[in-house]
Amino acid sequence: MDFENKVVIVTGGTRGIGLETVKAFYENKATVILFGSREETVNKAVEELKNENINVEGYYPNLNNYEEVEKVFEEIHSKYGHIDVLVNNAGISQKGPIENIKAEDFESIMNLNVNALFNTSKVATKYMKEQGQGVILNTSSMVSKYGQPSGVGYPTSKFAVNGLTLSLARELAPFNIRVNAVAPGITNTDMVKNLPKEMIAPLIGTIPLKRIGEPRDIANAFLFLASDMASYITGVVLSVDGLARS
Ligand code: NAD
Repeated sequence: MDFENKVVIVTGGTRGIGLETVKAFYENKATVILFGSREETVNKAVEELKNENINVEGYYPNLNNYEEVEKVFEEIHSKYGHIDVLVNNAGISQKGPIENIKAEDFESIMNLNVNALFNTSKVATKYMKEQGQGVILNTSSMVSKYGQPSGVGYPTSKFAVNGLTLSLARELAPFNIRVNAVAPGITNTDMVKNLPKEMIAPLIGTIPLKRIGEPRDIANAFLFLASDMASYITGVVLSVDGLARS
């Protein structure tokens, strides 16, 4: 896969799946820009990547502030002249029974996992329409198919990600902009490292491939969907979960 002269933005690119996605695109010759939530973590990630000879730029817009998102995209666009791929990866999860979830917790998960995607996708669409091409990729989850037995906000947000993906795919297809999502299963990142072992072990037993996913498994799916090899694929939520069922 060759992303030479392609400008790729990855939100939540400072660690986990996002960081691995940044590396994967860079290895395939893309110009990569990572977004993170704070200046400190963004600078740290950019510095650590530099030590691995991976040179990327980092920004930390508040993804829920439309004007801030617009300003950062404008800056990137004026520097490179185009924005080819947007990977909406930043996301948070939630645990606990509904009685313990505050309305503000539910709101904050919807804010980052859904509303932020509206902001970045809206701004990216403007540039992609002008260019006559583009790819928007979203990060859904296995729970967007099955729900989960606690932490209702997270699956709710990921069902919405699928809705946004399918609808935007239909709206933007006439403009040669493809929109797809990847739905990871349990993947080996901080999000999962924070979960109790008693919860993860029995889950591995139910996975036919007998392991949890690695961030590179997900990054590879993003690479494929962003590439010309997927030029006839849009509106798809691709499961990357080792589950052997649709
Ligand atoms: P992670 O916690 O390791 O990384 C999350 C990323 O999101 C970080 O780069 C962080 O900077 C960014 N982020 C967090 N809060 C933010 C905010 N308020 N504003 C901007 N950025 C913010 O998580 P991960 O496991 O790498 O997850 C990445 C994506 O994959 C998420 O959308 C998550 O829902 C999804 N996912 C993960 C798993 C899993 O098992 N790890 C499974 C399914 C889906």
